[in-house]
Amino acid sequence: MRALRLPAWKSDPELVEIDEPTPGPGQVVVKIGGAGACHSDLHLMHDFDSGTLPWGPPFVLGHENAGWVHALGAGVSGLEVGQPVAVYGPWGCGVCARCRVGADNYCENPAAAPVPGGGGGLGLDGGMAEYELVPAARHVVPLPDGLDPVQAAPLTDAGLTPYHAIRRSWPKLVPGSTAVVIGVGGLGHVGVQILKATTATRVVAVDTRDEALRLAQECGADLTLRSGAGTADEIRTLTGGRGADVVLDFVGADPTLKLAVSVVRTVGDLTIVGIGGGSLTMSYFTVPYEASVQTTYWGSRPELIEVLDLGARGLVRPKITTFGLDDAMDAYRRMQDGTLEGRAVIVP
Ligand code: NAD
Ligand code: ZN
Ligand code: ZN
Repeated sequence: MRALRLPAWKSDPELVEIDEPTPGPGQVVVKIGGAGACHSDLHLMHDFDSGTLPWGPPFVLGHENAGWVHALGAGVSGLEVGQPVAVYGPWGCGVCARCRVGADNYCENPAAAPVPGGGGGLGLDGGMAEYELVPAARHVVPLPDGLDPVQAAPLTDAGLTPYHAIRRSWPKLVPGSTAVVIGVGGLGHVGVQILKATTATRVVAVDTRDEALRLAQECGADLTLRSGAGTADEIRTLTGGRGADVVLDFVGADPTLKLAVSVVRTVGDLTIVGIGGGSLTMSYFTVPYEASVQTTYWGSRPELIEVLDLGARGLVRPKITTFGLDDAMDAYRRMQDGTLEGRAVIVP
């Protein structure tokens, strides 16, 4: 089968011919209907070197995947060949306390996972291929009626990651609150929709690109701001000087972290989702009192089921452009150039 494989760190992926996977006991092979292209893949191609992560190339890219059950390994029950499914992406050990409650994203025994802290497309072969081998049936989540694999694929990461980040801050997103979304790309535009669908907060979206701000508006943002020298003051003014209750940084670079910390409110949440390489200095006088700063990684399996429900009911609809496997590199180039709106999904 054809697959888009990262051959080495600091290189572009290549379209290669590899063997079709066969499922071992307890495993499932999914025929891929859609594999989302995430900005993390660009970090994999450009920013990492051997030793940074506990795994490395070669592996097939694609960590947000959905499709149909193709083959079941011995002992797998409760799934049927042909059934539409999403793949839960972070693959933990399966038996630690976190994995047992469906939070493989925070597996406490990564050394016993198929690959420590990764999954398909992140150290192991992923979904930018005709088929993906999923090492345990628990990661295969049936799609609710009304959701097809192309729509479902980005929900497994561009949906699940912001959903998890937002859900943990729900108690602060009361009517009268303000949430700031920085970076309205693949994750951010779905984040805006999730905020609107699940809370009554006022959503302020910030990006450097006008097209991204237009998309934010389409997704229901109450206010959009082009990021620049005056953005923090604008947010302070519109919140009566208080600042934002929740700030979600989907970029994570020095300038966005600087903006985030300058607009977060006392007792607010500043959540860093983007892996942009920036850093934040935290000391007694640089962060408002009781503001919490956290990074988040992906989301849990129960949260994926909730996101798929939002998708099936039309409450969350990623804006998707599809590409074939041959054109996958165009998707990444457009992401890099800032000419991609929403999410690119590769349809093999
Ligand atoms: P994307 O390229 O689709 O979107 C990024 C957006 O940020 C773009 O709209 C871009 O214009 C905007 N942007 C860039 N610099 C900006 C700045 N200085 N100010 C304001 N906006 C700016 O990327 P994506 O796929 O949505 O991923 C976003 C980030 O999240 C990446 O770093 C990715 O690696 C990371 N990520 C993290 C997790 C996690 O679990 N923590 C999961 C998936 C992706
Ligand atoms: Zn991702
Ligand atoms: Zn575990």
